[in-house]
Amino acid sequence: MSDPFRIDGKRALVTGANTGIGQAIALGLAERGAHVIAAGRRSCAETVDAIAEIGGGAEELVLDLADPAQAAQVVGQIEELDILVNNAGIIRREDSVSHTEADWDDVMDVNLKAVFLLCQAFAKNAMARGDGGRIVNIASLLSFQGGIRVPGYTASKHGVAGLTKIFANEWAAQGITVNAIAPGYIATNNTADLQADETRNRQILERIPAGRWGDPFDIAGTAAFLASPAAGYITGAVINVDGGWLAR
Ligand code: NAP
Repeated sequence: MSDPFRIDGKRALVTGANTGIGQAIALGLAERGAHVIAAGRRSCAETVDAIAEIGGGAEELVLDLADPAQAAQVVGQIEELDILVNNAGIIRREDSVSHTEADWDDVMDVNLKAVFLLCQAFAKNAMARGDGGRIVNIASLLSFQGGIRVPGYTASKHGVAGLTKIFANEWAAQGITVNAIAPGYIATNNTADLQADETRNRQILERIPAGRWGDPFDIAGTAAFLASPAAGYITGAVINVDGGWLAR
């Protein structure tokens, strides 16, 4: 019997794959047998090289998801896509009274609008082919909590959880599963300011039952699982990978 956790021969697009969580997910999918299209605003050559080193297959794709036209078209440029991981995201930290309309639009375009457009294009292709597919969206603890000083980000990540559920409802019958991962505090560029702030860093660590920041590879294993046959009956779920933060 074949291993239900393997995804050999599947083709996966991972956005924001040049660094952080996206890079770890790209490696995690490749380790389990997928061919990865590593997409980013900057070159993903480092990710492609790291995948080659472990004997996997990957290629890079440069695109700017802040441009809705590129977001709408990217899936169509890729032949036979089985797995879509919407990981790219940005954050703007500013008191809500000072958060500008431009900050709001920038965050929503990348974190929510691009996710909508990529999921829609992916589903259209998968339905036309008739062989289903897997979507994994990267949500956040701020898909559930309000957070502080990040109104655009919080709104976008609540939106990601909502889109995950509506798409799951509409597309399950076509064999497309749609799930999200809500990472806790993961040590990446995105959280560099928080890690560097002694007080916030201490407060965060005190609240995490696991007692440590998450590693991007903590997220990669869950993404690979959700993309695998083993997770075939999971859809519409938003899975916390947070060292216990939300249980506290
Ligand atoms: P990161 O290190 O800042 O990486 C973000 C990735 O998104 C980068 O590859 C970035 O490319 C890419 N990206 C940003 N804007 C883009 C655009 N317009 N077009 C294409 N790619 C773009 O952040 P991370 O921590 O790995 O975050 C990855 C995801 O996890 C995000 O959705 C984030 O909201 C989510 N998340 C992170 C945490 C955490 O604690 N780290 C917690 C919850 C959720 P560049 O390098 O070129 O900017």
